[in-house]
Parts: sequence; C-alpha cells; structure tokens
Amino acid sequence: MLAQEIIRRKRDGDRLEPAEIAAIAGGLADGSLSEGQAAAFAMAVFFKGLDKAECALLTLAMARSGRVLDWSGEALAGPILDKHSTGGVGDNVSLMLAPAIAACGAYVPMISGRGLGHTGGTLDKLDSIPGYASQPDEANFRRVVRTCGCAIIGQTADLAPADRRLYAIRDVTATVESIPLITASILSKKLAAGLGGLVMDVKTGSGAFMPTLAGARALAASIAGVAGQAGLPTRALITDMNQPLASAAGNAVEMRNALDYLTGKHRDLRLHDVVLALGAQMLLLGGLARDMAAARARLARALDSGAAAEHFARMVAELGGPRDLLEHPDQHLAQAPIVMPVLAEADGFITSIDTRAIGIAVVALGGGRRRASDTIDPSVGFSALVGLGAPVRRGAPLGFVHARSLAQAEAATADLRQACMFGPVAPVATPPVIEIVGAA
Ligand code: URA
Repeated sequence: MLAQEIIRRKRDGDRLEPAEIAAIAGGLADGSLSEGQAAAFAMAVFFKGLDKAECALLTLAMARSGRVLDWSGEALAGPILDKHSTGGVGDNVSLMLAPAIAACGAYVPMISGRGLGHTGGTLDKLDSIPGYASQPDEANFRRVVRTCGCAIIGQTADLAPADRRLYAIRDVTATVESIPLITASILSKKLAAGLGGLVMDVKTGSGAFMPTLAGARALAASIAGVAGQAGLPTRALITDMNQPLASAAGNAVEMRNALDYLTGKHRDLRLHDVVLALGAQMLLLGGLARDMAAARARLARALDSGAAAEHFARMVAELGGPRDLLEHPDQHLAQAPIVMPVLAEADGFITSIDTRAIGIAVVALGGGRRRASDTIDPSVGFSALVGLGAPVRRGAPLGFVHARSLAQAEAATADLRQACMFGPVAPVATPPVIEIVGAA
C-alpha cells in the first residue's frame, strides 16, 4: 500500500479504509512513513477531518503501535484512573491531582507530555526537579505506581510510538488544532496505559487549542465518543482557559506553586476549583465515592490532611528526586537570576487576558521549545499573576517575570502588559468549570 496514495485519498476528502489507517499508524511507528509523508497526512486530516469510525481506528492503531500496559498482574487494591488536559497555560493540575487521587485509594499511572506550542507540559515541570527520572523503565514505573499510588512520567519509547512521532511532527507543522488528531493522540496514550477510567479536562478560551466553546464541545464529544467505543469509561469537563489557571506560568515557578498548594501554604482559587471538579469525577468513575458531595469531601480531606503532599513527596523520592523537596523547595528548584515586577501602566480592571500570548512569552523566555531539539530553562516564567477582573492601580504589579537576562525580562514585561487589557468596569466572572460532557 503506497503511503502517497493514502494521503492523496485523504487530501481529496475520501474515507480511509481500516487497512489504510493501520498502514499509516504502522509506518509512523516503524519509521517507514517519512517525516514529509507524516506531515502531509496530518495536514490532509487537518483540512478534511476523520469521521468517528476513522478516528476510532486511528486511535486504536496508534494505541497498539507499541506496548499496552496490563495492570491485572499487580493485584492493585483500587481502580486505575487518570486525567488528561488538552493543554493550557499555568495548568499544573496534574501535580496535585495525581497524588490526591492516590491518597483516596486509586492508582494513577499518568503519562504526561512536554509543552506543545504555547502550552506548558507536565513533563517539563517535573524535569525542573533535580534527579527526577521522568522516563523510567517499565518495571520502575510499575513499582512506583504500586508503592506510591501514582507515578507521573513521560511517554516511553515503546508506549504509543506512532503518536510519539506524529505529535512531534504536528508540533512543528501547524497541525495541532485538529479534533480527530488531538482525540487520537490523547486517547492512544491513555489506552496504552491500561486505564480503568479517564477524566478529560478540555480547555476553552484564549489559551486553549480550541478557543471557542463550540470547538471545545466538539473536542470533548469526540474524545468521550471514541473513548466509549474503545471501552474506556470517560468523562470530559470543559474548563476555562481565558486566563492562566495558576498564578504562575513556567516550569519551576509552576512547580513551586504546586508545592505551595500541596502543603496548603497558598492555593489559587480557580485552580482549586478545577482540581476538586476533576478529582471528584475521577473518584466517581472509580467507584471511590457514592456521590458528588462525598467525592469532593474525600478529595478535600486528602488535600487538607497532607496525605496528598505525602504521596507526592514519596513519588518524587522514589523516582530519584530530593527527599525534602516539599520542605526546602528553594534548595532544589532553579531560580532565575532576574526576578522583577511587571508594573501596570494604567488604573482599572483587567477585562481580558490574551493567555496564548503569555504562553508564547514563556516560550520566548526559554521556558518552552521553538524546535523539538531545544532544551528548556526551568527557572523562567511568570509568578504572582493577577487574574481577570482584578482591580489594578497604576504602578502595582501585574505579576513578576523570572528571566535569564535583563533584555529577556524587558521583552517579557512588554508581552505581559500587552496581554492584559484594562477597562473601567470589571467583566462578568466566568466560572472555571463550564460544563461536563459524557457519562461513565
Ligand atoms: N495533548 C496530546 O497528548 N495530544 C494533542 O494532540 C494535544 C494535547
């Protein structure tokens, strides 16, 4: 089967046969599909789409392109659950949610990704912890899930390798924002991880890949539908990304924000709402709570008692990170040489935030990649960001920039100022959790 013929058929809007989709996934995994062909396939799908059946076939073929984990031999005493976000800015939810869910009795083998486009990646945030082995071998991954209840790691070479290759190619060929490709990418990894239930956080707003609510709804429905067809109980929540979710954006700065959250030192309210909403759905999916109120209460106990923090600390230590990260974060997390406030130039309320621009500013500071081969500076980003609707006085900080050089700090200062629009009246507040799609 000639790859160029399959690409041509998709380019012309034809429906692909199962064998053709299998050939694409196989070629991605074994390298016989060239980079140019993979990029052309992604672009053809970007413009012509895949129907539900094609998308399900691509998802399954990519999931089976490598090892599919089976946890039945581990005799785990709880359900195997995970959550995944479609990507945003200041979205460090996984860092507190995985250990909180583990503290409630579930097991969370979380395969996380690197930053994609303007969005941050959990894996890059974890890599800000010195010594943390974010790509352990399978035996070590299993051991940490078994003993700590959670392990957040990166996609290993043998887990959905077809997606691993296509994801990297999409990142640099402007083919990320495609509903069937996002669906197949996310679910192929989740199916390969051998989950019993999945909660999806589908972002909408200025910092999301699907900025419109209609787009986010379509993505949520696509993910819930394909997951259902593949036998993976899934719920999708649509959450707001019209402002960074945490008050920090960057890698070490978001890690500090997550540690403060886990220890109870500081919790951003919108972030907390999203953690509770996603976590409660996970506990319900896993049968660990009888109703929403019980699920939220159980999760809040896990967070407030310090049990979630303990699970996180154990996971970090078992994966090679420092044993005292929670007690002494500043001894371990990188600090940028320049930290300076970004001062508002006008009085007023923040009426809108170009969240994507803030994500791009983090990339420009060196906190994300321009090319797949770039290394990341973990120390840079923004902290103490003010949120939508905040009243701000001229000369008061909109946030703090963490930069490697003065020139970068000044450029990021201009970016943040430009990203924040001011007006005389506070905008109507949007809730962080917008709606829930799909049923278990
Ligand atoms: N996250 C993924 O894993 N894949 C995508 O395509 C987008 C977000």
